[in-house]
Amino acid sequence: MVLFKKITQLQQYLAKAVTTGQQIGFVPTMGALHEGHLQLVKQSLQTTQLTVCSIFVNPTQFNDANDFDKYPITLEADIECLEQQGCHVLFIPSVQEMYPTGVQASQHYPLGNLENVLEGAFRPNHYQGVCQVVHRLLDIVQPHQLFLGQKDFQQCMVLQWLVDFLALPTQIHIVPTVRNTQGLALSSRNTRLTAPQQQQALAIYQNMAWLKTQLKPGKLTALTEHIKTNLLAAGFEKIDYVAICEPTTLAEVQEWDGQTKLVVLIAAFLHGVRLIDNEYITI
Ligand code: AMP
Repeated sequence: MVLFKKITQLQQYLAKAVTTGQQIGFVPTMGALHEGHLQLVKQSLQTTQLTVCSIFVNPTQFNDANDFDKYPITLEADIECLEQQGCHVLFIPSVQEMYPTGVQASQHYPLGNLENVLEGAFRPNHYQGVCQVVHRLLDIVQPHQLFLGQKDFQQCMVLQWLVDFLALPTQIHIVPTVRNTQGLALSSRNTRLTAPQQQQALAIYQNMAWLKTQLKPGKLTALTEHIKTNLLAAGFEKIDYVAICEPTTLAEVQEWDGQTKLVVLIAAFLHGVRLIDNEYITI
């Protein structure tokens, strides 16, 4: 694996690969890599000829300074995992390299309703920061294929919007959420929970599984309220949302017609760690 810290050197390397007809696959991450990230890398290795992974903890997408300060950094282990996986290129820029004129936004992304609902509503400016960093990374890497995790459901929609908005030729692949054997969605933030706390965190997955068994046409509010009560009983201290939505618009579905495809999305705090997860709940 070749490692780059500087944009110009990475771009020189990638330009050579492109002239030989290689397709570039790109996996942007914030590091503290786990099997979920590695699944994205595997998919890229299978689909393209040159896989580029980036590790950059983007300060502009954190609406909570404490979350940014506590974000886990495990660079040596990350490099080893990526080497083992067969990743070709790792890009690890500094903040100065990414934002030479400063971290302030240089443009506003008109995300519309995507920014008013769920993560958008609870994390003001988060998606502006996500668009800012991914726009910059896409400019630098110019990938043919971009690999994203379904774990960040709304982020996938935001980034599809970005690619369309910028009229880029990049194709997005959404990789299903990787979970541990008990169902907990792998997340870099899980490392901030002890083993017993991670057991408590399973309540999210268990409630999503329960929801699938309860779903029938009619009002859905009692189900989401029941899940909120269960999560609080399991030890979650704050619930941002438990929402059953139509997956292409994220419009919340209060009453189900038995036909519309549905996804459940949950965000809640456990021991100060904000966890998110989602699952399609219709077949
Ligand atoms: P992050 O490092 O959290 O910014 O995530 C980088 C990429 O990995 C994003 O596209 C995430 O959606 C994806 N990702 C994170 N966790 C998982 C997971 N458990 N399964 C699949 N993809 C994931």
